Amino acid sequence: MDPSTMFGLNMYFLIGLLLAVAIVLALIIAICTALKIWLWRNKRLRAEREVRQVRYRPDGQLYPPASRGLCDRCSQAYDKVYHLPSGKRLCPDCYASAEGAYDAGPPKAAQTL
Ligand SMILES: [Zn+2]
Repeated sequence: MDPSTMFGLNMYFLIGLLLAVAIVLALIIAICTALKIWLWRNKRLRAEREVRQVRYRPDGQLYPPASRGLCDRCSQAYDKVYHLPSGKRLCPDCYASAEGAYDAGPPKAAQTL
């Protein structure tokens, strides 16, 4: 075979190989990016759900402001005591029983996310 023909064939082979490598590389980068976006979105949704569970009651209403303190009903110290608008301070357990376990409705707030 003529050396110039061999050179031309080799060039075509090299260009094809380079193109294939570039396409595979782009595909790998796209898959990694999509995976990262998916993981980030899941993480964000989980964090939003956790924040919602802390701030909102299962029936969708906002919890009253809370701080560390004593419960007026069971007279024990807690890391979290709700300050009711009436001036009473209740621990989460006493608050749940006082509110009738949030009227025993299904947890709507957790399902909306
Ligand atoms: Zn209590």
